[in-house]
Amino acid sequence: MNVLFLAAEADPFIKVGGLGDVAGSLPRFLRGLPLEVTNGTVLDVRLVLPLHPAIKNDSHGLRPLLIFPLSLKAGDIQVQVFETIFEGLPVYFLDGQPISESGSVYSSESSQDGEKYTFFSLAALELTRQLDWKPNIVHANDWHTALACYALLLGRWEGEFPGVSSVLTLHNLPFMGPDISSNMVEHNLLQVQTGLPEWANTKPLPLGLWAADAIVAVSPTYAREVLTPEFGCGLEDYLHARRESLNGILNGIDVDSFNPALDPAIGANFGIPTLEKRSLNKTALQVRLELPNDPDVPLLSVISRMDPQKGIDIIPTALRKLKDLKWQIVILGTGDPKLEESIKRAQAEFPDRIRAEFKYDPGLARQIYAGSDIFLMPSRYEPCGLSQMIAMRYGCVPIVSAVGGLKDTIYHNETGFIFEKPTPSRLATAIKKAFTVFSDHTRWEAMQKAGMSQDFSWAASARQYFQLYDRLMARLPNHNQTL
Ligand code: ADP
Repeated sequence: MNVLFLAAEADPFIKVGGLGDVAGSLPRFLRGLPLEVTNGTVLDVRLVLPLHPAIKNDSHGLRPLLIFPLSLKAGDIQVQVFETIFEGLPVYFLDGQPISESGSVYSSESSQDGEKYTFFSLAALELTRQLDWKPNIVHANDWHTALACYALLLGRWEGEFPGVSSVLTLHNLPFMGPDISSNMVEHNLLQVQTGLPEWANTKPLPLGLWAADAIVAVSPTYAREVLTPEFGCGLEDYLHARRESLNGILNGIDVDSFNPALDPAIGANFGIPTLEKRSLNKTALQVRLELPNDPDVPLLSVISRMDPQKGIDIIPTALRKLKDLKWQIVILGTGDPKLEESIKRAQAEFPDRIRAEFKYDPGLARQIYAGSDIFLMPSRYEPCGLSQMIAMRYGCVPIVSAVGGLKDTIYHNETGFIFEKPTPSRLATAIKKAFTVFSDHTRWEAMQKAGMSQDFSWAASARQYFQLYDRLMARLPNHNQTL
């Protein structure tokens, strides 16, 4: 079974958020699924990424592989392909003018992103023909690569890509991508009649959802939530009509990389039998952040993109409600300047209790997971969320809102605390409750250990993806047929 996995980012080559974690680990785990799980099927999974300029500067052993032309209305654009093998996984990097000319993975200039990812999605499909390697499944992720599903279906109608099915994983529905109608014209990609709402016909994510043979939401709860007006972003009716094709498969984390017993980024390694060593990481964190060094004060943490989605804005108000209690908090994240500003104001009010670092720092993130006591994630919506899983793995107890994958990964009062509706008062109440348990050492340790014992590995989810691929292959056998 050949699977072409497309993503805008993948750890360790380039990572902005959770998509990078998933694309950096799921394809490897799929490839490594034991034959007894796949009933003897050998999975040849290959990952394709844009060669973002930031990757170029790093050395990941990239080798030039081939150059081919992609034909556009205005003439050909050359696609340069580089290749490497990462822990057994073949990874292709595509370069070409629209990619090399754009700076960051996601630019604030949406038209630039539209051009870049249209080019990337179509070049990735063409790559399979150039390699003479026929995928059975094209697996796209989010709006950036969704157009590959659309182009694949149109190609199938024309007798190209016979027997190739597509899967689109939804990591974040509200990000549907910019209007790409002019890019589609430029790439000679027809705009056909779809059952989508009119406004959605020019956006890559809806077009991909329309064309994909299977849609995957990254948690079972999110798969149900996107069918409602609250979370469906105007596509709830369309998704409802396609509910037979909609699956919910929970993301996993790379439990080898996120392993407190071996993580080289933290000062003191620990596991369930050696949990007492964890306090050394708390002390080191307090020292590093120049917070008063007190083992008994609960140290809260946030590691997140600064985005209204994450409910960061309610945290300062919740903390003000708790000003008479003892606490410290460390916040690591970048993004929305308004959110950063509100945190800076709170820091000025509580200079000896709040530390904020507005940067992307994976090493510090690991030290925070390993050293802080309570992880806050009051998200307004959360398709899956990985941070709460990483936190639990490191013995940091999460407090989360009752949405999406947060509901699917946490047992209330056992591995964390779940509260309804992200408002400052509800968050403050949940934090207070956590403080009560924190003050009871035995109960707290039991919660930490319960979280650390959870299996967040990819094993179960990779198997579900395989089963989905298998079903699709059975439905669309290897001849010229459309669904
Ligand atoms: P999302 O994908 O919505 O950003 P997730 O919880 O699924 O949220 O994944 C976020 C990932 O990015 C986690 O691995 C988290 O540790 C990491 N992360 C987020 N912000 C930072 C940061 N400022 N520095 C380092 N890692 C970060």
